[in-house]
Order: sequence, then C-alpha cells, then structure tokens
Amino acid sequence: MILPRFDVLVPDTVERACGMLAENADKGVRILAGGTDLLVDLRSPIFRQHVPRCDGCPSHPKGSVSSTIDCSMWDSEPLMDSGGSLRDIFKAPDQSPPEFLISLHKLDGLKGIRKLDDGSLQVGALTTITEIERSGEIREGWTALAEGADNLGSPLVRNRGTIGGNIVNARPAADTAVPTIALAGKLNLQGVSSTREIASESFPLGPGVTVIKPDEILTSIIYPEAPPYSGSAYYKLANRKALEISTVGVAVWLVLDKPGGIVADAIISLGAVGPTPLIAESVKDTLIGKIPDKTTIRKTAEAVKDDARPIDDHRGSAWYRLLMVERITERLLHIALKRAGENR
Ligand SMILES: Cc1cc2nc3c(=O)[nH]c(=O)nc-3n(C[C@H](O)[C@H](O)[C@H](O)COP(=O)(O)OP(=O)(O)OC[C@H]3O[C@@H](n4cnc5c(N)ncnc54)[C@H](O)[C@@H]3O)c2cc1C
Repeated sequence: MILPRFDVLVPDTVERACGMLAENADKGVRILAGGTDLLVDLRSPIFRQHVPRCDGCPSHPKGSVSSTIDCSMWDSEPLMDSGGSLRDIFKAPDQSPPEFLISLHKLDGLKGIRKLDDGSLQVGALTTITEIERSGEIREGWTALAEGADNLGSPLVRNRGTIGGNIVNARPAADTAVPTIALAGKLNLQGVSSTREIASESFPLGPGVTVIKPDEILTSIIYPEAPPYSGSAYYKLANRKALEISTVGVAVWLVLDKPGGIVADAIISLGAVGPTPLIAESVKDTLIGKIPDKTTIRKTAEAVKDDARPIDDHRGSAWYRLLMVERITERLLHIALKRAGENR
C-alpha cells in the first residue's frame, strides 16, 4: 500500500489538536483516529492523471494527452446521489493529499465508556468498536449499539476502528451511526473557541460530508438513559457475514408506558437506503401512542418502507432494499418489544 507523504502531529490536549487543525487548514490536514477509513482513503485519491483520456471530442483531438476534466465527454455524465457528477469530484480541490495528519492517540480523555450521574452514557470518540462490542453496560441498556459494533468489519478492524471515526466518516451504511441515531445519541464537538452538542441525525449531510467545522473534533457521544420498558435492536443485512458494508441496516428503539401498554416513544433509523442514515418519520403516525400488536407492527413496517430512498447498486437493487427494510423492521420491532418487556 503506497501512501502519499505526510507528517503526523501528536497533540497532548484537545485544545492543542483544535489549534493544529485551524493553523494548518490551508495546507491540508486530517484527524487520524484508528486510520481504518482514513488511510484507505489517502491511499487512492483521485488525481488528475487518473481521469480517462479523451478519445476524440469537439474540444480535443483523438489521442490528446491533456487533462479531460474540461472535456465535453463529461457533459452527459449522470449526476450521483449527492447531486454532483464525477467531473465535480475530479475537479474538487480537496483531492490532494493532506500535508499533516493529527493523531489523537494521546488524548486519553476521548477514550472509554462512562455512565453519567443522570443515567446517560458517555462514549468517548476514541473508544474502539471492540470496546463497545464487549461492554456489558452497552449491551444491556443500549443494545442496538452493541449489535452495530458486532457487525462492523472484522476483529482486526474493530480493534483499531473507533466510533468517532465511524460517525465522522459519514457513510450512509455506517454500523454504529445508524443505531446512534435510533438511540437519540448527541455528539459533542469541540473547536478552538467553542463547544457544541448536535443531534446525531443532524450531523451527516451526505456521503462523507458532515456539519463539522474545520477546527472541530468529535469528543464524545452521549446516549440518553435507557428508561424502564425500553428496548432496542439493530440488524445488518449484507452479502457476507464479515468484512462487508451493509445492503440495508435498520435500528429500532422503543419505550412502552407500562408493561403491555402503548408505545410511548420510538425511533427507527435506516442505513444504506439514502445518502445519509434516515429517520423513519412514519412511526409517529403508525406506532407511537398505539398498542404494539401484530397488526400495528405490520402496518409500521409497511410505512417505514416508504421512508427509505434507496438506489440500485452492486450490493442490491432499490426494489430489494425496500422489501428488506419492511421485513427487517417488522422483525426488529418484535425483538425490541420483547426486550422492552424484560427491561424493568
Ligand atoms: C476492511 C474494512 C472493513 C470495514 N467494514 C466496515 C463495516 O462493516 N461497517 C462500517 O460501518 N465500517 C466499516 N469499515 C470502516 C471503518 O473501519 C469504520 O468506519 C471505523 O469505525 C473508522 O474509525 P477509525 O478510527 O479507523 O477512523 P479514521 O480512519 O481514523 O477516521 C475516519 C474519518 O473520521 C475523521 N475522524 C476520526 N475521528 C475523529 C474525531 N474524533 N473528530 C473528528 N474527526 C474524526 C478522520 O479525519 C477521517 O476523516 C471498514 C473498514 C475496513 C478497512
């Protein structure tokens, strides 16, 4: 694997790390956590010389070696999900490799899992996926997140990869981001002169694009207390059991007002069926305030299907994804309901 040249800066405080981000913004700088996404991305940036040569068009003679970025052969290029075209990507200024990586590995305050006095759970951004997978506390109270961690990559990837990296990388299929949204996780961001908290569903804007500012670092994720009679579950449908990005991911969280009672609140989030993980808005009408019997669950699953916005790709067709969203949602609602009954 050939990486471009870069220098690694190692701050010992979050404040210093934010300062380094701000100071080096014009030279190209990236945060390095576990590196399982970042180093892969850096290995194969799209350089101008990777743009296919023009085979003859109104703006270039056949065999021309000049860049074809401005060539009319791109004019009919279809738009991608994000609304841009391949030509936009080739033109994007941030395709050049960064001069600096800022390694967070010395920032111990960003590591670990801690129950807070109000019953909520703080997960540091540098907490590894393995630590999440092995946390009994998470598995008991925030089960969907533990199940997201179970399904991410392979043991090697889980040992290095962090929850912060998975969320900031902003892939629509990210296996901890989808349950984080269903569990109403809040993201703590720290910049040079301010800190802010943002709802996890508002964080991604599109594939690889988020609201994070150039000087900001994700420091932790806060999951609200798991109330009595609440339960959650995550399921990843993929073409293989390991080392595979999901074709569809669904996370369900719900809480009953009392054993056998109505659904007092619920959140369902959907992965890999839109440009970002999506919240199924239909549950407000179909599930909340209702007795979760078989008919209600069936109707909810049918409605959730219409919240998804999948595309056809090599992992599965949009038609198949919609069908799977419905089936998985139905199954997970039964599982979350059973867990809610057991959680008193
Ligand atoms: C073989 C393989 C299989 C994989 N399988 C899966 C899978 O099944 N499911 C899945 O969801 N993902 C998968 N991934 C992707 C990846 O492992 C995860 O997204 C991982 O959690 C990323 O964490 P990291 O610490 O390695 O992030 P890094 O690679 O270090 O960083 C990722 C991005 O986030 C930024 N970043 C990291 N931490 C912070 C922070 N605290 N504040 C601000 N910015 C930050 C970085 O600058 C970079 O842009 C796979 C990757 C590989 C290589």
